[in-house]
Amino acid sequence: MRPEAGQTERELAGAVRDWSAGLAPRIADAERDGALPADVIHDLGELGVLGMGVPEADGGLGASTVVFALVLEELGAAWASLAIGVSVNSGIVAGSIVRYGTREQRARWLPRLMDGSGLGAFALTEASSGSDAASLRATARRDGDGWVLNGRKHFVTNAHYAPLVITFARIGAAEPGKPHAGITAFIVPTDARGVSLGPSESKMGLLASDTSALGLEDARVGADAVLGEVGRGFGIALAGLDGGRIGVAAQSIGIARAAVDRAIGYARERRQFGQPLLEFEAIRFSLSRARTDIDAARLLVLRAAWLRDRGCPFTREASMAKLFASEAAQRATYAALQVFGGYGYMREYEVERYARDARVTTLYEGTSEVQRMVIARSLVAA
Ligand SMILES: Cc1cc2nc3c(=O)[nH]c(=O)nc-3n(C[C@H](O)[C@H](O)[C@H](O)COP(=O)(O)OP(=O)(O)OC[C@H]3O[C@@H](n4cnc5c(N)ncnc54)[C@H](O)[C@@H]3O)c2cc1C
Repeated sequence: MRPEAGQTERELAGAVRDWSAGLAPRIADAERDGALPADVIHDLGELGVLGMGVPEADGGLGASTVVFALVLEELGAAWASLAIGVSVNSGIVAGSIVRYGTREQRARWLPRLMDGSGLGAFALTEASSGSDAASLRATARRDGDGWVLNGRKHFVTNAHYAPLVITFARIGAAEPGKPHAGITAFIVPTDARGVSLGPSESKMGLLASDTSALGLEDARVGADAVLGEVGRGFGIALAGLDGGRIGVAAQSIGIARAAVDRAIGYARERRQFGQPLLEFEAIRFSLSRARTDIDAARLLVLRAAWLRDRGCPFTREASMAKLFASEAAQRATYAALQVFGGYGYMREYEVERYARDARVTTLYEGTSEVQRMVIARSLVAA
């Protein structure tokens, strides 16, 4: 069922939680196949989740960032591979088009990001530019009334499911002292001439999430492909990442919560030395620490989301939430795995999937070091 626009935040998150409980029997096969099933993406479209942050006037649910965070937590708890696909599609990609797109761009592309036929992608990273994203080398040059793009993007989430990729390329040369000069955002259709996709990367975790390279070889796009203003693309990338970090932080909380819940269930049942594991203080303390971390992380995420919903600055708070939640998820998933003993290392018990999936959350959408740099900048500016 599709939740109604304007329904309470808990109700939408609850609907997603109920729906995602039905995914459990399918996850192991999909992870083995390395792909998100098309009908699962389709269902997310039906639920309205893919357009949750899109205004009602543009066909979405018009939900707040707080709702986005609660939904991402539920998806993270169920299946992190799916959560990151939704976070990129509905957070960064749809969010950037809502914020910076023209009326025509919104009308053309938002339905494709909401209808469950695919998931949008965002291509900033290149082989030589990761944390230092402003040093990107992809180029764009004018050609008649359109543009010709060249370059190669790395690690593009959703690339093989995407009708469009928001891609960043530079017009002209970087200027000394102004590394982001000329960077422009383009909405690139994946079926445009000159666009190619590499094979899906083989990863440690997020096995059903697609992460692929995007090649641009004299790729031609129209004048209407420019998102926002020419030369102002880096600001669009940073704004997208600010919002995306709330999504990754919420995903991290979901992963950690699910792993810890499983560990508590196991510790109730598993007996050693004549009593359930949960009777041992060492086990209780470990899980108490993890539960406390999870709640603290959720409060940081909700604060960042709340600030964003009120139009207040939230860059620092999003970085704090992402830094804390992603690192808490490392600790919590490993603590949960430890409770399972040797069984935790076995695929059958799934807690190892949570530990592998949590690992990437301190890396993408800005590493922990980058989050500390963002937070530190605000200390210097204060
Ligand atoms: C599964 C996955 C999905 C991804 N999806 C996308 C996507 O959809 N779109 C996209 O554009 N990108 C995506 N990325 C890329 C991701 O955002 C980058 O990997 C990340 O920003 C780090 O860049 P890098 O890997 O080049 O590492 P580097 O920047 O080379 O960093 C290497 C190490 O050095 C540290 N470091 C770098 N600079 C400093 C500094 N000044 N001070 C201290 N330490 C520093 C880093 O924190 C890190 O630990 C994805 C990555 C992964 C793994």
